[in-house]
Amino acid sequence: MSALTHEKPDLLGMLPEEIDALFRARGLASYRSVQVVEWLFQHGARSFDDMTNVPKSLRSECAEHYSVTDLKILKVQVSQADRTRKFLLGLSDGAMVETVVLPEGKRSTACISTQVGCAFGCPFCASGKDGLARNLSVGEIVDQARRARFHPDIGNLTNIVLMGMGEPLANYEATAKATRIFLHERGFALGKRRVTISTAGYLPGLEKLAEDDLPVRLALSLHATDNATRNRLMPINKKYPIERVLEACNHLLLSRRTPLTIEYMLIEGHNDSLGEARRLAGICQSLRAKVNLIPWNPISSSRFRSPSEERILRFQAELRKAGVLAFIRRSRGADIDAACGQLRASSTTKKA
Ligand code: SF4
Repeated sequence: MSALTHEKPDLLGMLPEEIDALFRARGLASYRSVQVVEWLFQHGARSFDDMTNVPKSLRSECAEHYSVTDLKILKVQVSQADRTRKFLLGLSDGAMVETVVLPEGKRSTACISTQVGCAFGCPFCASGKDGLARNLSVGEIVDQARRARFHPDIGNLTNIVLMGMGEPLANYEATAKATRIFLHERGFALGKRRVTISTAGYLPGLEKLAEDDLPVRLALSLHATDNATRNRLMPINKKYPIERVLEACNHLLLSRRTPLTIEYMLIEGHNDSLGEARRLAGICQSLRAKVNLIPWNPISSSRFRSPSEERILRFQAELRKAGVLAFIRRSRGADIDAACGQLRASSTTKKA
């Protein structure tokens, strides 16, 4: 399931040193690639024509040989409750993805998609309702973050979470390279561990991450503490059961010191008992993980419900009693369907 391949190499999908090497191979002075890289990642240039201090002849040469991904902003919705912004972005093949930006004071976090749709079909999540259409390219992942970073109404973009539509680790190469661009001092220059990769427990991807040297944070969407419940809520668990996923996270913690956050969506009557809170506490203790509790966010025609406030607080208290850092992540942007599990792929591409 490969990403759309552009006819011309996409500079937005390249690390700065790869762009340097391309320019060197064309016999261009090194400061020219420095200029182009700055335009792409520090000024948000959407085409070579935007690069006004680059000679026109070089801009034409670049346009002849290279491309720059330019996602179209089709719609922007702003939450009245908390100023969360959701962008509907059009890709060059007509498919669409959603990106969410969560403001916090003068800072903001962008929640980026890595696939059009999702193959794993969790019944509580809108993103997998239409299955997987395709992977996003590096440039398509990076340009979502650029849309957020250079939007006039968005404050300083300090954090990126690869947690939107899709399973980031199932599109590993593109996710890892985009992450390197976010962290690169000539890219987005985000601080170490300002990028979080989220996973539903895709074991082959966790194994690749263990072989890699990415200084990222990992968020595991666990949502259940036993295989029977998790099989119902997250079908991926049938292939990669809890114990193997937790073992892989433990390996990452020991070998790479990758900090782990467990995301746990609370769904009434499915995973919100005190017994489950105790089991979750045990898991968090063994992995030195903190936990974000996410009261379930409504999606249309769903049979699920969020637990009552009292039950949510009791669940949190049980975790805290065991010494686990447990936070309740209140819905952000729920009034514009921008909260966890609410993003939806709109695609005109066919499922493969
Ligand atoms: S929760 Fe994650 S893995 Fe499950 S369908 Fe949604 S995007 Fe896919």
